[in-house]
Amino acid sequence: MGTDLLSQTKPIPIPTQEEDHSSHSRALLSFNTDSPSDPAAKTPPSKPNTTIIFIALILFTCIALQLPLRLLFSFTRLLRPLFQLQLRTFLTSLPNIHRLIANGTEADLGLIPVFPTLTFPNHYSIVTGLYPAYHGVINNRFVDPNTGEVFTMSSHEPKWWLGEPLWETGQSWFKGFYLFLAWNEIPVFMTLYFEDPDHQGHQVGPDDPQITEAVARIDSLIGRLIDGLEKRGVFEDVTIIMVGDHGMVGTCDKKLIFLDDLAPWIKIPADWVQYYTPMLAIRPLPSHAPSDFFAKMNEGLEPGKVENGKYLKVYLKEELPSRLHYAASGRIPPIIGLIEESFKGEQKRTKRQECGGAHGYDNAFFSMRTIFIGHGPQFARGKKVPSFENVQIYNLVTSILKLEGAPNNGSSAFPESVLLLSQ
Ligand SMILES: [Zn+2]
Repeated sequence: MGTDLLSQTKPIPIPTQEEDHSSHSRALLSFNTDSPSDPAAKTPPSKPNTTIIFIALILFTCIALQLPLRLLFSFTRLLRPLFQLQLRTFLTSLPNIHRLIANGTEADLGLIPVFPTLTFPNHYSIVTGLYPAYHGVINNRFVDPNTGEVFTMSSHEPKWWLGEPLWETGQSWFKGFYLFLAWNEIPVFMTLYFEDPDHQGHQVGPDDPQITEAVARIDSLIGRLIDGLEKRGVFEDVTIIMVGDHGMVGTCDKKLIFLDDLAPWIKIPADWVQYYTPMLAIRPLPSHAPSDFFAKMNEGLEPGKVENGKYLKVYLKEELPSRLHYAASGRIPPIIGLIEESFKGEQKRTKRQECGGAHGYDNAFFSMRTIFIGHGPQFARGKKVPSFENVQIYNLVTSILKLEGAPNNGSSAFPESVLLLSQ
């Protein structure tokens, strides 16, 4: 499908600032329809039947799945169910998340993020069911080639956000973002966002004890949520979907690729580079044909020419593997580089500290996967489902709420494979 099929919509996201940790971020999925200017606020929902209450608990965490999976590879070299791994590694410290897993449905080997495995493209794919090329948020930062305007994680203007997010699909049903409500004010749809442990993961990498502590804090917050729902006697009637947006992998040991090293073959001005790592995105000036630029870069990246050159694969975007769905938008720059897991791309050599954690790599890497847990009346207890892409979640939610969804990249048959058919 193309962007021309998408309706003109006006989502009101409140972006996070993933790579800017100087300010406390808010969630993309946090929204408040109490604003008088919002049409949803003009139609107060009636008291919902408990069987159709839906709470999407969106846990955008890098690590919750990542750590157990890393242990999986480090120690066992066997693909064992995550449930077993969590029993082994996290049961004592994550009793609440484990409770949701044990009594709900889980993607056994994780949820697959869309490419690039960055926060904003993935948040918006989860709520639209569209790949980034179709929902328009193709990166955390990019330049509109027509206007020269720059999209950043603070860009709220509707023109950037294509497609139809869930809160528009169900706008007559959904009422904003509440935490403390009387029973007769329980919303039908609600989202929560936790920034941890992404923040810590970028600083110290996914294997640091700080990450375990951050995940344990999330678990205790989920415990409070469950506790509140139980006190009101509605826990078993509420649907909780818990997802992460991406995984994370450690970056260290001088695994760096420098664009300036390619200067003997092609000089790459920094202002042509829209994003360095882990996905390289370059838009040469119109005077430089992308195909020539691409050919010269590849010449320099041939074996033995530049340090770590073999760990960067450069493509004309139309020639990227089709499984990445990353071509059908003018916003995507013509030259895209895929960097090997754990490596980073930079313009020039610096003495900057380079150990930490990163995501944004090819979504085929296992380290980029994250969690999916569904708990509630329409999710079987203790069920494991195969990994799936997060563009399927939109149809899952519209199916639970019996809403007619907008056209999207998910499969209409997918919800049947996950939800209880009798519901
Ligand atoms: Zn991050």
